[in-house]
Amino acid sequence: MNTTKSAAPRLGARYATDLAELVVPWKAAEAAAPQLLLLNESLAAELGLATEWLRGDDGVRMLVGNHVPEGATPAAQAYAGHQFGGYSPRLGDGRALLMGELEDGRDLHLKGSGRTPFARGGDGLAAVGPMLREYVISEAMYALGVPTTRSLAVTATGNTVYREQPLPGAVLARVAAGHERVGTFQFARALAAQDREKNDDHDDDNDDNSVLRRLADHTIARHHPDAADADNPYLELFASVLRRQADLVARWMLLGFIHGVMNTDNTTISGETIDYGPCAFMESYDPATVFSSIDTGGRYAYGNQPGIVQWNLARFAETLIPLIDPDQDEAVRQLTEVLTTFPGEYQRAWAAGMRAKLGLGESTAGDETIRVLIEDLLVLLATTRVDFTNFFRHLTASARGDEAGLRELFAAAPAGSCTEADPGSGEGPVDAWLARWRALDPSAPEMALANPVYIPRNHLVEEALDAATAGDLGPVEQLLVVVADPFTERPGLERFTEPSPAGAAPHVTYCGT
Ligand code: AMP
Ligand code: MG
Repeated sequence: MNTTKSAAPRLGARYATDLAELVVPWKAAEAAAPQLLLLNESLAAELGLATEWLRGDDGVRMLVGNHVPEGATPAAQAYAGHQFGGYSPRLGDGRALLMGELEDGRDLHLKGSGRTPFARGGDGLAAVGPMLREYVISEAMYALGVPTTRSLAVTATGNTVYREQPLPGAVLARVAAGHERVGTFQFARALAAQDREKNDDHDDDNDDNSVLRRLADHTIARHHPDAADADNPYLELFASVLRRQADLVARWMLLGFIHGVMNTDNTTISGETIDYGPCAFMESYDPATVFSSIDTGGRYAYGNQPGIVQWNLARFAETLIPLIDPDQDEAVRQLTEVLTTFPGEYQRAWAAGMRAKLGLGESTAGDETIRVLIEDLLVLLATTRVDFTNFFRHLTASARGDEAGLRELFAAAPAGSCTEADPGSGEGPVDAWLARWRALDPSAPEMALANPVYIPRNHLVEEALDAATAGDLGPVEQLLVVVADPFTERPGLERFTEPSPAGAAPHVTYCGT
């Protein structure tokens, strides 16, 4: 425990010690003139970190990696990964460091802290804009109830980063339950196989001390402790990760969140959303929505996300084969059996979430009635192209008896002519659907907890980041206040509920972070 309010945090080095083959101890690049831009005081308090210390000289220098608290062993983590389906055997933190584990067990991690041995062609740096972007969106996701890494601080380094133009550099201090990824297991599996070959040791893996087994044991103890009591803890580890990832992607889908770069190195074992790069929120409902400039094939489109999670879990399962059963075929059989539960787990989580969005969580209507109601709604949303978030927000108001917003939304729908757009007219598919929904007696309070008023809308995020890059943090700070309380509608914030201006070019996000 910190004994004084001003003490530096104590950082453990369990990962770096227990899994030494999976890290390279490393130091951050020197920041010319570190300057704290954003500090998440409530997260700091939750972590028992003294904000006075963090704001002081040593604190700010720690937040860029230049002050290493006594006992800490900053390290770059190794991992492999399938990126857009293609396998890279060696990725790793090219521009990030695990500073260590905080006293509550979570990781303190820095992003943008300079080149590491995993940097390949990269400069190891990050610009202010993308780091503020991760801060804003991850904190919004947290407030929306989605498991996610958190953001503790963004600190300008005083160094220049060269992208298409010179930009101010920054480091994001990120906090996560853990940074173990599917890609970490892919790396460990390959390393364990190499070691076995080198040692010419053809014993089965069940009594080995391989890095793969130690990584699995580490993540069970850390993130999935219940699995330790199962008949086969490694099979249960897989099942537990699968359930969390199914729940996670269901939450994304229910909010219209598009991650944008769902590579296996961006899929966590803890079940948290990680690495906010080209992510963005969908406006009009369209399963084919893609924002990322590099996702030209639409692999990570909105509607593909659950399937991609399942694909990434299959890659995870492959890494666990040696731990499951000495008979490889038997191991594959058991893992496959668990993998096939994914669609059911996902559907269950998503359907429960949709019911809540419609205020029907407690409804006594049959599952089939509600299933068809939801199915028809998605067709309606796709044909009218109304804003996804605002539809549910106005639907919530209409459950309270205030119909005006919903009426206006459909009247102004981009594809209004596809339907009889006046929900008050008593005709047309919208009205027919609303009548069926109302007949099920939806609960407005339930809906208010499931349907956000404010999400970090793409055009608002970009506007705020542009201002910050030019030196004005005001808009980012205001946006943070708005998205930190997404379910409470507040007067004066109407601007934050509006979709991007009609006629604006489709939003494109760039991975050049
Ligand atoms: P990401 O798409 O952010 O998940 O990054 C994929 C991989 O590229 C990770 O191994 C990163 O550490 C690495 N990377 C991304 N940007 C840079 C950079 N500017 N310098 C070095 N490595 C980077
Ligand atoms: Mg990544």
